[in-house]
Amino acid sequence: MRYQLVADAYEKIEGTTKRLEMTDLLVDLLKKTPKELIDKIVYLTQGKLYPDFMGVEIGVAEKLAVRAVAKATGRGEKEILDDLKKTGDLGETAQKFLEKRLQALLFYKPLTVEVVYQTLDKMAKASGPGSMDQKINLLTGLLTNATPKEAKYIIRTVTGKLRLGIADMTVLDALAIAYGGGKEARAELERAYNISSDLGKVARVLVESGLEGIRKFKVSLGEPIRPMLAERLSSPEEILEKLGGKCIAEYKYDGERIQAHKDGSRVILFSRRLENITGQYPDAVELIRNHLKPEKAIIEAECVAVDPDTGEMRPFQELMHRRRKYGIKEAIEEYPVSLFAFDVLYVDGKDLTLEPYPIRHEFLEKIVEEGDRFKIAHYLITDNPEELERFFQEAIENGCEGLVCKAVSEDSIYQAGARGWLWIKYKRDYKSEMTDTVDLVVVGAFHGRGKRAGTYGALLLAAYNKENDTFETVCKCGSGFTDEDLKKIPEMMKPHEIAHRHPRVNSALEADVWFEPKVVIEVIGAEITLSPTHTCAMDRIRKGSGLAIRFPRFTGNYRLDKAPEDATTVDEILEMYKGQLKSIEAS
Ligand code: AMP
Repeated sequence: MRYQLVADAYEKIEGTTKRLEMTDLLVDLLKKTPKELIDKIVYLTQGKLYPDFMGVEIGVAEKLAVRAVAKATGRGEKEILDDLKKTGDLGETAQKFLEKRLQALLFYKPLTVEVVYQTLDKMAKASGPGSMDQKINLLTGLLTNATPKEAKYIIRTVTGKLRLGIADMTVLDALAIAYGGGKEARAELERAYNISSDLGKVARVLVESGLEGIRKFKVSLGEPIRPMLAERLSSPEEILEKLGGKCIAEYKYDGERIQAHKDGSRVILFSRRLENITGQYPDAVELIRNHLKPEKAIIEAECVAVDPDTGEMRPFQELMHRRRKYGIKEAIEEYPVSLFAFDVLYVDGKDLTLEPYPIRHEFLEKIVEEGDRFKIAHYLITDNPEELERFFQEAIENGCEGLVCKAVSEDSIYQAGARGWLWIKYKRDYKSEMTDTVDLVVVGAFHGRGKRAGTYGALLLAAYNKENDTFETVCKCGSGFTDEDLKKIPEMMKPHEIAHRHPRVNSALEADVWFEPKVVIEVIGAEITLSPTHTCAMDRIRKGSGLAIRFPRFTGNYRLDKAPEDATTVDEILEMYKGQLKSIEAS
C-alpha cells in the first residue's frame, strides 16, 4: 500500500472538524487498506506504532528531525530553523523544502506503508550509543524518498505532533462501518477494546474473523483492561437509593491504582492510565507473587504508602516519592507500600468481567492470602445510611479518602472503560489542614509487631475535658518516634501502668496497656476529622461522632513541663475543627 494514500487521507481528515465527516474519511482509508496492514494503519492514524501499554515511543526530538530535513533536502540547518520559526510546524517546513527540491529530482522510490512503519519501528527501538545518528539516518532515508506531503506527515508522526484528532471512539465507529456491517456493531467492538486496550488488535480480529471473532474476544494476560470508574454522590442516603437500597462499601484508599497481571512468576503492573509501571514497584510485584494463590490472575488493587514501622497508611504525597526511574531500591526502603485488592477480573483462564460483583468478591476472598502488606480492601455490606456514614468517617480517620460504594445487584458487572453508577464514590467536598501542634495525654498503648516487637506500636492519646475533669481520646499515634524514643517510652510509662482503664479516661477503644493520665507529649496531625472511634467532643458536632486527629505524628517534644490538666482541651480541639471548616468556606 502506498503511503501517499495515507497522507492524502490525513490531509482530508485535517480539513474537517466534523466528527461524522472524519469518520467517513477514516472509513474510506480503512476500506482501502489490505487486511494485513489494518492494525498498522489504525496505530499510525493515532500517531503510534503499538498500543499505548507497550510503551514504545518513536520519540524523535525536533532538533534531530531538523537535521534529517536538512540532510534530505540538501539545505543548511539554519535555513530550516529560520523557516520553522515562521511556520511553527516542522512538518510544513519539510513539505515546503521538499517541494522546492522535487523540481530537480527525477527519480524517487515510492514509499509504502510497510516501509514507513518498519523504519519508524526501527527508529523507536534504536537505543544505546550511536542511536541518535541511526535515527537521523533512518529518517533522512524516508524523507529522501517521500513526496512533500508524505514528508509533512512523517515528520509530524516522528515528533509526536500528528494530532489528527481521531479519538478511540471514532476509530471504533469507522471500523464498525467499514467491516462490522454498520454502526450498530460499535458496542461489541467497544467491549473488545475495553478488555484489550488495543485498537489495532480489535481491527485485525474484525477484519480476519468478523464480528464472530470479536464476540469471542477474551481478557488476556499482559493486555490491560481499561479501568472501571466511579460516579460520585455526597450523601449515604442518595448512594443507597441509587444502588437499590444495599451496597458493599469499601475504603477508598489514597494511593495509586494498579492492575496486576500474574502469569506464573511473571508479574506485570499497569497504572490507571495503563502504562507499564512494573519497574517502579518491585516490592508490589513480590507481594503479588506471594499473596495471589492462582497461577494466572488479574486483580486490581490500590498501592498505598505505609509507615515502615507500624504499617499505618501514610498520605498520598509520600507515595509520590516512588515515581522515579532511579534509586528505586532506596525508595522501597524509605517509602514501602501495601496493596489493598478491590477486584478480580480473571483467574486461571476464566474471564470474570461479566460476573456480578458479589461473585467477583467471593473469588477475591478465595484467591488472596492476606498478610500485613497485602489485604483485601476493608468493606462493609450495609443497607443503613447511618452505618454507612460511620464507616465513611472511620475510613477518613484511618487515612483513606472516603468510600467506594459498589452495587451488589445481578447486573453489577465490571464495566471496563466506563464511568457508571455501579460504583459510587463518597468523598469529602473539602480538604482541611491542621497547622498547630497539640499537647496530648498518654492514656494507653498498643503492643508493637514486627520491627516494633517488644515495645509499643502506638500510643492512645487524649485531650482534657475541663468540665468533667476527664480525658477523651483523640488519636492513636504510632509515627514520629525515633528508636531512642521507642526504648525510652516503655521505661518512662512503666510507673504509670495500671490494670484497667483509668476512671478519668473516656475511651471507646480497648488499649493493650492502660496508664494513669500523667505524661503529655506534643503531636501534629494532617487535620481534625469526625470520628466514630474517638470520644473527644462526642456528639458535639454530630450525634454519634467524636473528633480525631488524622495522620498524627509525635513531634519529638515531651511536655514534661505540663500537667495532664494543662494538655490541649476538648474545647480547643472543637474550635480547631470549626476553624478548619471556616477557612474552607472562606477559600
Ligand atoms: P477517583 O480517582 O476519585 O475517580 O476514584 C476512583 C479511584 O479510587 C480508583 O481509580 C482507585 O484508584 C481508587 N480506589 C481506592 N480504593 C478503591 C476501592 N476499594 N475500589 C475502587 N477504587 C478504589
